[in-house]
Amino acid sequence: MRKQIVVANWKMNNSPEQSKQLCSSILSNMSPIDKEVILAPSYLYLNAVVDATQNSVIKVAAQNCHQEISGAYTGEVSASMLAALGLDYVILGHSERRYYYGEDNSLLAKKVSSALSQGLKVIYCCGETLDQRNSGAHIDRITKQLTEGLFHLPTDAMRNIVIGYEPIWAVGTGITATSTQAQEMHAHIRNAISNKYGADIANDTSILYGGSCTPSNVKELFVQNDVDGGLIGGASLDADDFIAIVNA
Ligand code: PEP
Repeated sequence: MRKQIVVANWKMNNSPEQSKQLCSSILSNMSPIDKEVILAPSYLYLNAVVDATQNSVIKVAAQNCHQEISGAYTGEVSASMLAALGLDYVILGHSERRYYYGEDNSLLAKKVSSALSQGLKVIYCCGETLDQRNSGAHIDRITKQLTEGLFHLPTDAMRNIVIGYEPIWAVGTGITATSTQAQEMHAHIRNAISNKYGADIANDTSILYGGSCTPSNVKELFVQNDVDGGLIGGASLDADDFIAIVNA
């Protein structure tokens, strides 16, 4: 059975105090749920968030990692360092990393393998630009991101992968994909996984939607057959909004 998952991607936001505050508000106001809740703070606050969420149902993710396990890579953080902190997940392939830092599918394939080799689970993001959607190239674009960044994995490894479908035109823009658009792409992603790894793996893979989710628009998205939760950016910085999304 695949899990329902909601991820808070705090990006490069929050002070240490705000991060702790958000954790405690989420912990004390979250109703008992059958969803998995994952917080992704900046590297600097990972330790504090791991401590604050210990003995709770909340899991912690990093927003990125390097493809090598160690070495002369000034300023970088490896998957083994993240695993040593006790993290469960790492987000890879977010559109902001693809766009601002030139991360392409072949680099991401290495990062995915590196993270899995250290026992981390991976939230692998994919998404198309507005031009690609308008020209009808969106399905092919996602297929390519999956094929080149993920489908080098052996079957068993896919059990540690969560997919984040995040149309780039919806991330941080206030424009959300319609539930029909989201369902169509999620069904395509599940079908692509099924073609490569079989129906069992495809049915067990959680596919999250991300892109301007708010408490008022997630209900319709989350009830779609192939939408298994969300990746939440802006709205995850407000405890009330995030809790409302988790409880949706
Ligand atoms: C994201 O960056 O993963 C995201 C979904 O952002 P937002 O919710 O702000 O669109």
